[in-house]
Amino acid sequence: MADVYDYGAGFTERAAVSLANPRLRRAVADSSDRVVAARLRAFESLDDPDALRDTAARLRDAVLSRLDVHLDALATNWEAHGGRVFFAADAAEARDYVRTVTSGAGIAVKSKSMASEEIGLNGVLESAGMEVVETDLGEWILQLAGEHPSHIVAPAIHKSKADVAELFSEMAGTRLPVDTAALTAFARDQLRAKFLAADVGITGTNFGVSEAGAVCIVTNEGNARMCSSLPRVHIALMGMERVVGTFDELAVMLALLGRSATGQKLSQYTTLLFGPRRPNESDGPEESHLVVLDNGRSKVLGTPFQAALRCIRCGACLNVCPVYRQVGGHAYDTVYSGPIGAVLNPLLRDSPQARELAHASTLCGACTEVCPVRIPLHDLLLKLRRGYAEKDAGRVEKAAYSLWARAWGTPRGFRATAVLGRLGMRLPARSLPLLNRWTRGRTPPTTGPHR
Ligand code: SF4
Repeated sequence: MADVYDYGAGFTERAAVSLANPRLRRAVADSSDRVVAARLRAFESLDDPDALRDTAARLRDAVLSRLDVHLDALATNWEAHGGRVFFAADAAEARDYVRTVTSGAGIAVKSKSMASEEIGLNGVLESAGMEVVETDLGEWILQLAGEHPSHIVAPAIHKSKADVAELFSEMAGTRLPVDTAALTAFARDQLRAKFLAADVGITGTNFGVSEAGAVCIVTNEGNARMCSSLPRVHIALMGMERVVGTFDELAVMLALLGRSATGQKLSQYTTLLFGPRRPNESDGPEESHLVVLDNGRSKVLGTPFQAALRCIRCGACLNVCPVYRQVGGHAYDTVYSGPIGAVLNPLLRDSPQARELAHASTLCGACTEVCPVRIPLHDLLLKLRRGYAEKDAGRVEKAAYSLWARAWGTPRGFRATAVLGRLGMRLPARSLPLLNRWTRGRTPPTTGPHR
């Protein structure tokens, strides 16, 4: 993924850029607050939300434990409907397949797909001479701004209405009002023409339903329906883990997805696709392709990190994360941001940059608390950190931490280190080069006799 996103510098430096941008921080905080409150209200309408979450986690685990069987069934049944399936081992294979299928096309319309971000698809198609148009409103805003999504569900969460009005005004060549209705009307006008002219529609896949050979896509704008039914060719991209066995299982996931993602009982549009148009049907593509993307996922199966593959990409963990809420998604410099990104990125593709993200967390556990499929996110982050420490820490560092652990193992040792810490803080920061990042923002606890 590093070849797709490249903001440079380390997480601390990128976070500092976000922290210095009050407009971004306000936009992220306001939007997250709204969704967090809506999520709470939406869960109140469930009889037993905890039981539903337990069921969802169990169902996801059951699928993951027989993923090969489910993918086989999905492919066989999708092909029986007349669709085509391609299993892509990595990003390059997925890009090559899509480039071949779309060869000669003029316009491709796209609905939101994190998998397409993951493989860097737009750039490849544009280099092949195609016009690629994002049709999810948030994605379109970012395409105009030349940016990547900063949230799994709300890609332009970091943009205020005023930011959007500025962007659209530039495109329109006239000043548009800072008004949601006017701005969405402008976007609708622009995008409608693209839907009608497109040769290819590219969508993501929220869930593949293996027993039915169906692809399920949920949106709030209906744009995925246009992308999958108007152009002659439709291509659905799907991470290989995004499968459920049956429609009953799908119903469980949808009940949790809408509530967790946007605080809705159900998203506005739930679309089920069964391959290309039949001879007696008036709508639908002539060709339907399903691209199933591995790109590092299969090596997570069967490991202590497998639970991360339960993720249904609802974004709830981002909205409650105290780190994400301050810095937004671009500070992570990866396709998947927030707590799930901090876990998933290093698992999918290990790199020093991805490893750093495992430390971009306070380990407060808020992410684990809200995850609808019960991914123990902060435990997984700790596991990652432990693994890195065991592999990477030098002898001196290991000895220092072991001394520290021993000191904090007794009340007397803890008090002694706190006193030393307080003394150390009186020294100028430059005299503590190894610790000055800590001492800049922390006050050691006051210690005293136990009562
Ligand atoms: S980890 Fe859980 S909360 Fe976060 S996006 Fe995935 S399903 Fe949602």
